[in-house]
Amino acid sequence: MARTDEFIRDVERYSANNYYPLPIVIEKGEGVWVYDVEGKRYLDMLSAYSALNQGHRHPKIIGALYEQAAKVTLTSRAFHNETMGSFLKTLCQMAGFEKALPMNTGAEAVETALKAARKWGLVKKGVPENQGEIIVCDNNFHGRTVTIVSFSTEEQYRYGFGPFTPGFISVPFGDADALEKAITKNTVAILAEPIQGEGGVLVPPEGYLAKMRQLATEHNVLMMLDEIQTGLGRTGKLFAYQYEDAKPDVLLLGKALGGGVYPVSAMLSSDDVMDVFKPGDHGSTFGGNPLGSAVGKAALEVLEEENLVEQAFTLGRYFKEGLEKIKSPLVAEIRGKGLLIGVEIKKEHGKARPFCERLMELGLLCKETHDYTIRFAPPLTITKEEIDWSLERIAQVLK
Ligand SMILES: *Cc1c(COP(=O)(O)O)cnc(C)c1O
Repeated sequence: MARTDEFIRDVERYSANNYYPLPIVIEKGEGVWVYDVEGKRYLDMLSAYSALNQGHRHPKIIGALYEQAAKVTLTSRAFHNETMGSFLKTLCQMAGFEKALPMNTGAEAVETALKAARKWGLVKKGVPENQGEIIVCDNNFHGRTVTIVSFSTEEQYRYGFGPFTPGFISVPFGDADALEKAITKNTVAILAEPIQGEGGVLVPPEGYLAKMRQLATEHNVLMMLDEIQTGLGRTGKLFAYQYEDAKPDVLLLGKALGGGVYPVSAMLSSDDVMDVFKPGDHGSTFGGNPLGSAVGKAALEVLEEENLVEQAFTLGRYFKEGLEKIKSPLVAEIRGKGLLIGVEIKKEHGKARPFCERLMELGLLCKETHDYTIRFAPPLTITKEEIDWSLERIAQVLK
């Protein structure tokens, strides 16, 4: 492990210590597989937190990257470029929204939505200036900016980073009554994840999103769903809200929108909401750039051309059943939809990390989320045989 140790030494010497990675150094990736610097092969069951739905280095996406890189990569939003329009057209038509505003990271898409909601509240709903309230959910994860951690309920995400942005009210996730009670005349939006990925793959009770939709309509409040992790096929539907037909007013995408190649995110919405942004109100140097747009468009086309949404639905069910069949005495609960599955370890058996370390030794990469839950979220291009291969190893570790 000489090479591995050497690379890790550099990281420990020169990198900020804000992550706690498993001791593996990846050199190459292809499809669902990655290879470390020692030449050992692993199946990637984390997929960069669902940014790799299309798999590592998908040939079509890499092709689009090269092709665009040979033409122009960055213009300026002061000029038009040839690719942004066709990317956003594909995105809006596939997702069923009128307009999209392209950004880069997920956190930026969330920030964009918060700004849109506040301004919409002021200019369209008539909420007094600086009085708009946004309701969020306990255990949320929407990113790491100061404003976003202002409404996190996770102590570690906040400690030391105040003072915080006001205007947020947090209610228990999955509790429609609490949501309704929190709505006031100044509420401009509700922001939620359809399934809380970072929170530990928490699935709300059935009907919750539909109820949220109903409440938002009744009270003239924007329903904003963060599908940065759950979207683009991950849960077995193009978007997780489609399980309940609860189409939000604002949809946030990121991660897999960049096909595992390039950071691309977007806020999608109606003309009515998007209309609050006037030239100069908001922007991003790299948002909608030609390279990102070409990659984003290819990333969307791959989902469609390869039927990855269907695949996630079918194989997700197969994988979850396989996990249940292990009947592990160590497991408290198996949760999730499609290929976003959380396996919660019973507290008396300790945290999930040692299980992830054992799985890594067996050639399966995954990561604990919220201490006790192992998240299994492979690229949607995974095959049934590869799931069987994984289940054998998971069974070995959980038995
Ligand atoms: C990852 C994630 C984000 C933040 O995305 P970044 O690209 O890391 O800024 C926001 N919301 C959800 C649900 C996420 O999973």
